[in-house]
Amino acid sequence: MRVAWTADGGTWHLVFRLDPEDDVTGFCADGQPLKLATNTFRAELPRAPRDIHPDLLALAAWTVIAPWTRRRVTFDRPISPELAGAIGDGWGVQAGPTGPTATQARSGGRLAISYSGGADSVAVAAMLPDAPFVHFQRVSHPRVPNRWTHYRSDVLASLAGKTGRELTVVRSDLEFTLAEPRPGYPEHHAVAVGALLMADELDLGGLAFGYELGSRWLGGARYIHRYTPDNLMWAPHGAWGRAFAAAGLHIVLPVGGVSEAVTMRLALGSELRGQLRWCLRGVGGPCGTCGKCLYKELIQAAVERRPLRTTITEGRPVARKWQRPPPYGGQEMIEYGCARVPGIEDTVFAAAARHLCATESSTAWLDRCYPPAVAEIPEPWRKQVHDFVDGEIGFMSEDEARRVETWGMA
Ligand SMILES: [Zn+2]
Repeated sequence: MRVAWTADGGTWHLVFRLDPEDDVTGFCADGQPLKLATNTFRAELPRAPRDIHPDLLALAAWTVIAPWTRRRVTFDRPISPELAGAIGDGWGVQAGPTGPTATQARSGGRLAISYSGGADSVAVAAMLPDAPFVHFQRVSHPRVPNRWTHYRSDVLASLAGKTGRELTVVRSDLEFTLAEPRPGYPEHHAVAVGALLMADELDLGGLAFGYELGSRWLGGARYIHRYTPDNLMWAPHGAWGRAFAAAGLHIVLPVGGVSEAVTMRLALGSELRGQLRWCLRGVGGPCGTCGKCLYKELIQAAVERRPLRTTITEGRPVARKWQRPPPYGGQEMIEYGCARVPGIEDTVFAAAARHLCATESSTAWLDRCYPPAVAEIPEPWRKQVHDFVDGEIGFMSEDEARRVETWGMA
């Protein structure tokens, strides 16, 4: 893979070219097969930054091109030996050039939040009230037709603008490099492209993501369904954790030890509740009809201890997976919801509830924080997160922590 960045004011354009051993079908770090649509993308920064360290440019490119790179990646300017080493160790890919003009590794001081506006990132914002936001906004690609006009990224960006926080919005078409399964981040870390390119300008040393217990420790969503201490994507010692650390922008997961029930509770109690939005489709509010709205409604109803409010019925495609037996993506939260929502037996989750047989006591561990998640937060920001968790959430007992560590083994 060969990579070249060019800048036009605050707009950075990347062109990447595959080597003979590369292939247009590759794999995301979570195992999802990805088919390439096009070999260019851009990132529009709010202003032309004073300087961008070559490691930041290289890592920003790597978050997009990694799935399709087999043996080597050649950047257009020398990178530090630290970043080259992290890519070599993490992916078995030879990265360079480094050589005699090898660059000094970079560092920064502040922690920013990769802010989407969903419950998990609003919960992070509640924990870190002084941290600036960096928001990724999807825009159309000049060479790829946009068949996803119902994705209202403009609505999410405008909600982020109403939070009153220091905000940097970076607009990018990088999701359209992906033809299949659909436009999206080639690697989950591509959401950080804007934060990487602005890291020197904003003096960033860490980037906080809203990945919670399920994503970090339980291999949730489309990932493997078991305890994942060595999570390739989100563990500090995983391939991506090491690559970001090498570029001086540490991955920080302030809510990595808590479930989506806790992030939902924090978000609903937050001063940013009015700007909270987890659905990409609605304009005046969440659409209420997509799969994500249904899943989040289950969690919100459980947290608020009320019946489910939805017009989605069993026959609808988004409800189909709940008619089948487990395992489910985010199953810990389905158990939590089924155990707490009154009248669950009369909802689209009735079959799932019968299979799971969850109770309030069997899901009580999901109301507290898994201690190792706080221990792995980089030192400059650990105490602030620890004190918030201690005061507002509480830590799991040893028995509860064992629920995390034996997840998926039953
Ligand atoms: Zn929706």
